[in-house]
Amino acid sequence: MTANFPTAFRLKARAKLVEPDQCLEHLVEHLREHDGEIREEEGAFLVTLPDIRGRMWCDDGLLHVDARSSDAETAYFVRTWLDGVFRHLAGTGPVEIAWKEDWNAGHLPPSFSVLKVEALQTITSRMMRVTLKCPDAARFARADALHVQVLVNFADMVAATGGAPAPLIWRRYTVRAVDLAASMIDIDIFLHGEAGPGAAWVRSLRVGDLVGVAGPNGGGIGQAERFLIAGDETALPAIARIMGLLPQHCVGDVWIETEESAERLPLEVPPGITLTWLARENDAGAALECAINGALARRTAEKTFVWVACEASAASRIRKHVRVAALHDNLDHLIAGYWKR
Ligand SMILES: Cc1cc2nc3c(=O)[nH]c(=O)nc-3n(C[C@H](O)[C@H](O)[C@H](O)COP(=O)(O)OP(=O)(O)OC[C@H]3O[C@@H](n4cnc5c(N)ncnc54)[C@H](O)[C@@H]3O)c2cc1C
Repeated sequence: MTANFPTAFRLKARAKLVEPDQCLEHLVEHLREHDGEIREEEGAFLVTLPDIRGRMWCDDGLLHVDARSSDAETAYFVRTWLDGVFRHLAGTGPVEIAWKEDWNAGHLPPSFSVLKVEALQTITSRMMRVTLKCPDAARFARADALHVQVLVNFADMVAATGGAPAPLIWRRYTVRAVDLAASMIDIDIFLHGEAGPGAAWVRSLRVGDLVGVAGPNGGGIGQAERFLIAGDETALPAIARIMGLLPQHCVGDVWIETEESAERLPLEVPPGITLTWLARENDAGAALECAINGALARRTAEKTFVWVACEASAASRIRKHVRVAALHDNLDHLIAGYWKR
């Protein structure tokens, strides 16, 4: 590792897995897919991402990860993500993970806070607005960090105080609105109808409940003259926030794909932006992929920013198209899988 690595927060993992090489391949592919810069050196993979750098290799049947980050929050969620990937790839097989951190990594991330449910409102038959009382609401009003991690099994953690802490389950949601005067934030959650800890948590919520939240984090929107923005019901809160962040003179398109037309919420967009609602007919994200490909074919000289959030495999296909277009167009992008079928 060369000297210019940020050294503040170092995280080492040694994982004993049935197929360490396959797991390493999966990690490399996933990070490459998510715009990670990857290069091979002496049998190891060196990874560079915005806030973290690392080295991953296999040796003696073990998978090793040595990562460094400039902030404890990123290091905390990298550890959470790696832990999830190792356990997911181990499936029902055995997995032993030894962690070593050179800082006092607590059980919770540095930005963790406990907020209170002030109101619950069904804004459509499948979208629930959760309003949280938040003494330092200004913290959530950042244009470059629109999302939070919600600890959806916070109640279990509280109940387990003194006993073995339950494995923490985090789910990502967007801060839909910040009311500084009332010190409140809103999160809009799509009731996707499948079983999941996040879905179970939102259904169980009651006014007055305490909610564990970390963040804000995650990206915002880049600088550009033309914007191509696409997403599904889970991306609607982020798109609504982004509409308020765009320069009034910008041009472009917004496409939102929903399963039911009842999910088409009123959305204010800048005068130069065309909003198109799409019905989900086939696979989740297919209509969005079609819309983005069509727009990319209409090449323009303007600096363009493509922002997409939808089902992960659709997002991955769209990312490939956008990367090809970026080879010959003045184009930047942020494309994320918000959920995985
Ligand atoms: C940065 C970011 C911001 C996000 N913001 C929001 C937001 O503001 N509001 C919001 O509602 N969601 C948002 N999401 C998406 C949300 O985190 C996922 O939908 C998450 O999978 C929900 O967790 P879960 O525990 O309910 O389901 P999981 O345990 O993740 O999945 C359980 C099952 O549900 C299915 N599933 C999950 N989501 C969907 C879906 N949308 N449609 C159909 N099936 C689904 C999965 O395929 C799986 O079979 C965001 C995601 C990211 C990464």
